[in-house]
Amino acid sequence: MVKPFVALPDERIRQKSQEVTAYDRSLKELVRDLIETSKVQENPPALGMAAPQIGVFKKVFVAKIRNKFRPFVNPKITKVSKQQGAYLEGCFSVSGKYGSAIRPLEVDIEAQDVFGKKFTKHYKGLPARIVQHETEHLDGILFIDHVYKQNGKMFRVAKDKKGKEMLVEETVDSVITSAAK
Ligand SMILES: [Zn+2]
Repeated sequence: MVKPFVALPDERIRQKSQEVTAYDRSLKELVRDLIETSKVQENPPALGMAAPQIGVFKKVFVAKIRNKFRPFVNPKITKVSKQQGAYLEGCFSVSGKYGSAIRPLEVDIEAQDVFGKKFTKHYKGLPARIVQHETEHLDGILFIDHVYKQNGKMFRVAKDKKGKEMLVEETVDSVITSAAK
C-alpha cells in the first residue's frame, strides 16, 4: 500500500528504529509498502526509502540498485572508503530541499533479507550513497545533518516566473530544526 511520509517538522523522523527479530508476514508487507510508496514517486523519483519515513520504526529500508528495489533488514555499514565525494541529496522527509553532502564513495554493508538470511555487499558510486543515506534514517540521522556539519550548500525548490522549477540557495540553519535522538 502507498503510505504517507513522516517528514520534518514531524520529530518522529528523528527517532531510532528497532532491530527486526521476526521474519514474518508483517515484515514482507512492510517491504511491499516501501516499494509501492517508492514506485509512485515521480517528482523526484525515489532511489530508496526507509521504514521510519512511512511511520514504521523498524530497521528496514529498500534501495534502488541496478533498477530494482531491494530490501535491507537490520543493515550495518561495516567499512567505508577513505575517498569521499560531494553530491546533491534530497529526501522525502525533508520536502523540497536539497543539499550537498560529502560522503565516502565506497562502502561495505551487512544486512539480512526478508527471511533473515545474512548477506554482505560492496557498493560504490550512487548505490553506496543511497545505502548510507537510508541506513542513517534508522538512527534518526538526516542528510541535512551532514550538510550542517560540513558547512555545505543547501537549496530549496522554487518556481521562476514561467512556473519552471529551480533551486534557490538558502542557509542550512533554516532547514535543520532538530538533531537525531
Ligand atoms: Zn531520506
